[in-house]
Amino acid sequence: MDKVIEVSGLKKAYGSVQAVNGLDFYTERGKLFAFLGPNGAGKSTTIDILCTLLRPDAGEVLLDGHRLGKADDAIRASIGVVFQDHVLDPLLTVEENIRVRGGLYPTLRGKLADAVKRAALAADVTDFLRRPYGKLSGGQKRRADIARALVHTPRVLFLDEPTTGLDPQTRRSVWESIRTLQRETGLTVFLTTHYMEEAAEADYVVVIDNGMIAARGTPTALKEEYASDQLRLTPSDPAGLMAALVEMGVATVRMTDVVAVKLGSTLEALPVLDRVRGFVSGFEVLNGTMDDAFIGITGREIRQ
Ligand code: ADP
Repeated sequence: MDKVIEVSGLKKAYGSVQAVNGLDFYTERGKLFAFLGPNGAGKSTTIDILCTLLRPDAGEVLLDGHRLGKADDAIRASIGVVFQDHVLDPLLTVEENIRVRGGLYPTLRGKLADAVKRAALAADVTDFLRRPYGKLSGGQKRRADIARALVHTPRVLFLDEPTTGLDPQTRRSVWESIRTLQRETGLTVFLTTHYMEEAAEADYVVVIDNGMIAARGTPTALKEEYASDQLRLTPSDPAGLMAALVEMGVATVRMTDVVAVKLGSTLEALPVLDRVRGFVSGFEVLNGTMDDAFIGITGREIRQ
């Protein structure tokens, strides 16, 4: 297995606040890696450290074979970073913004025009390359941010909540561009997101809480372990239904007009349905989601 990021024993405190408290994880090359956690979990601190913006108190980081603290310039050349705030010059066109950025890399000397073209294609910004950045829509700005981060063909692209603040339709289209980029170029994407449906598409997920790893695994494995499937029953005879469920000894949650039964697997719905069929007017079997898994792991909703 080819590990492009390896983190061990990472720690960082701000005064008495232990923001990162002993993190060990790795990211495989070419994968979409989601780094999740509730607010204050230590995500930004970790990303700032990996991107050479902040010194850790302890621990080791290898990024594309370069050791943090010893080869920070090489690390910076290996990564592209898109933080939440828009940082491009609003008066320059998208192309000029990408070009200015590319000009900072000595390796691109004499090859800048090609590099700008490649980055623009990869991030899907060719339609508005000549427009001032300040005049773009939110989704176009986000794509332009990504194009700029790609100009030096980084090995790892860090995306800190790339779709936050966008309307749902734009969010989906920016997300599709990110997925296409990652699949087609084999770029490693290190992502933080508040949208669990995005995390559900990751190849691997690490959830941190209080500066420590709370869970890790593929989305499927995390859902299996931390989110339970549910049988939702619409009562026709609420009293009869509750009596039957109590008699069966199953765990239930009452909602406004349905009763939810927690299941170990969807198949467990069958005996329950057999038993309660005279007391319900309908039912639904729902698979656990990444949202449920996140709550199961951290005890909190991600947006809290
Ligand atoms: P996240 O990105 O997961 O929301 P952060 O890494 O921003 O988490 O923060 C982790 C913890 O460190 C929080 O308790 C936060 O208040 C604290 N923290 C972050 N940055 C600073 C700072 N510059 N000074 C003091 N405390 C900080």
